Amino acid sequence: MIHKDWVDFSHHFSNQNIKAIFSYKSFNADGLEGRKDLADQTGFNSDSLIIPKQTHSTNILFPMEAGRILDTDGVFSSDPNLVCSIQVADCMPVYFVHQLDSVFGLVHAGWRGLVNGILLQSAKQIEEKGKSLSNFDILIGPSIQKCCFEVSDDVINQFDPNFIEEKGAGKYRIDLQKLALHQLVQNGFKSEKITTLTECTYCEAEKYHSYRRNGKKAGRMIGLLGYC
Ligand SMILES: [Zn+2]
Repeated sequence: MIHKDWVDFSHHFSNQNIKAIFSYKSFNADGLEGRKDLADQTGFNSDSLIIPKQTHSTNILFPMEAGRILDTDGVFSSDPNLVCSIQVADCMPVYFVHQLDSVFGLVHAGWRGLVNGILLQSAKQIEEKGKSLSNFDILIGPSIQKCCFEVSDDVINQFDPNFIEEKGAGKYRIDLQKLALHQLVQNGFKSEKITTLTECTYCEAEKYHSYRRNGKKAGRMIGLLGYC
């Protein structure tokens, strides 16, 4: 079903019980109320939301109950009664869903999280729960792409050279999605089970908020993931 205010990504996962949602710019997802509103409207229990306070860290958690989590950029659950949530505006929303068991998670991966190893931390946390990485379907959702993600000399050394394109005048473009895919596969996930969407949040100004385009006033898109 097509909806004007959000997209349903559930069909990207072979686990039939999972629902994966991503809000568009047209949905006012501001604050706790906005996030709960999106959950209600998309069929989730809004009292079951796990809500991380994101800080561009590499912290990944498996919280045991719903509510706010401080200083965390990825939340996972093995409880089908809980619903993971994150917010993004250019950074990658990465959805992880075990194909058979009730284990799922959402990670906010910006360039800092990526170069500091948030995807490696995700893999470690999953393995600590005794789950095999090869059983996960992964979706890298709408995010800023190589056409628009430019960085300068001061941070370029932090990136794997294989994903850098030099533009001249001390400017570089980075393919964050390819870097993320590379890291996921290196850490043990299966490339054939990873889907990367090519929509650029900066280019698609009608559809998505973009921090790089709109600056500090930019709104956010919300990702939701849970059993439904
Ligand atoms: Zn673009």
